Amino acid sequence: MSRDDILSELVSGRLRFHELDRLVGVSEAVRLRREALGALTGVGFEHISNSSIDAGGLVGRNIENMIGAVQVPLGVAGPLPVEGEFASGDFYLPLATTEGALVASVNRGCAAIREAGHVKVHIFQDMMTRAPVFRCESLEAALGLIKWVGENFERMKAASGRTTRHGELLRVEPFVVGRTVWLRLGFDTKDAMGMNMVTIASDAICDLVLSENSGVELVSLSGNMCVDKKPAAINTLLGRGKTVVAETVIPERVVSSKLKADPMRMVEVNYRKNLLGSARAGALGFNAHAANIIAAIFIACGQDVAHVVEGSTAITTVEKTGEGLYLAVTLPALEVGTVGGGTRVETQRECLEMLGLAGSGEPPGSNAKMLAEIIASAVLAGETSLIAAQAAHHLAEAHKRLGR
Ligand code: NAP
Repeated sequence: MSRDDILSELVSGRLRFHELDRLVGVSEAVRLRREALGALTGVGFEHISNSSIDAGGLVGRNIENMIGAVQVPLGVAGPLPVEGEFASGDFYLPLATTEGALVASVNRGCAAIREAGHVKVHIFQDMMTRAPVFRCESLEAALGLIKWVGENFERMKAASGRTTRHGELLRVEPFVVGRTVWLRLGFDTKDAMGMNMVTIASDAICDLVLSENSGVELVSLSGNMCVDKKPAAINTLLGRGKTVVAETVIPERVVSSKLKADPMRMVEVNYRKNLLGSARAGALGFNAHAANIIAAIFIACGQDVAHVVEGSTAITTVEKTGEGLYLAVTLPALEVGTVGGGTRVETQRECLEMLGLAGSGEPPGSNAKMLAEIIASAVLAGETSLIAAQAAHHLAEAHKRLGR
């Protein structure tokens, strides 16, 4: 078939977009799809076609029916001094966003923290989860399944371990509704965010469960008790991905010189807005704009952006102490990786390299933990700045200047 013939087949719908990669190769398939779509929609795609991303490395792993790439402006904030177990030093933060004033706000938070000292950060738990759901024929069968799970952890661990070199089963927590049973499986996934890894490992565990338990049927490998990409209290209580706390203390003179705010007013804003306001609204996130910083770094660094849902369930605390203003963020479910997923896209990889943590860490797992510590610290910088702006009634002013 000539190129023109392929194009007309595509436009008529007789040839499907997804059939093209095999027919003409990935790069030509991207061009042809774009041209056919141009003919169908009347759009030239001058910008979507203009990208340095190597489609060959992504099609079949990260994207289907590729037609090009969208571009998101990338800004930098910092440096932000971080003192964690894995991240130690000054970091320039890559923030991909179109929200005016966001980078400037995080940058201001970094400046205040720099003058005050640093962010102290710690990861309390690191565990990616998948929760298959089983229908048992009776309560007795459900009880039998839960008893079996209690007695066979090592065998479940071994079965899942055969599917991955880096993944390791850490915990199995059963939940029951009537005769329905969920097994919330928690894994250490080292430098991978881990969703593919734990899904494949969970499948192996399910095979073992089904082979040894009668009257039990697997309904779905993902039973929404995981919980992936849906706001849920279970993630905030039991954690998912990394559970991280970051704190800093900013002396009063820095609060007034750098943040132009009164410390007690910042305490008040946090109390009435982030705590009371969020409680009254029934929110799962008790913060000012954690999602802003998480989304911007996730886009820049090739993370799964839908995981902003879990990441944004952060709690911000602000207290006045003898040393100044104590600020902290607690992120129960920060899901990040430095291998796999979107981390292999060239532009995103450069952002990870800028942070000094692209790819596999030494030891494995240390790069992803470092990324989590940096992101939590960046969230703290963002919270500090926005709470100060609201305490000083500067929010609308900043957005008039930078956001329109
Ligand atoms: P992945 O690329 O599927 O798996 C990570 C790979 O990296 C594994 O092959 C692993 O090998 C290897 N690896 C090499 N060095 C490693 C190290 N130091 N630490 C950990 N692994 C290392 O990535 P993933 O994180 O599991 O999954 C991320 C993708 O899943 C994203 O694209 C996301 O959008 C998608 N996702 C999938 C689901 C789902 O249900 N499947 C849900 C949400 C998102 P070994 O396994 O042999 O160790």
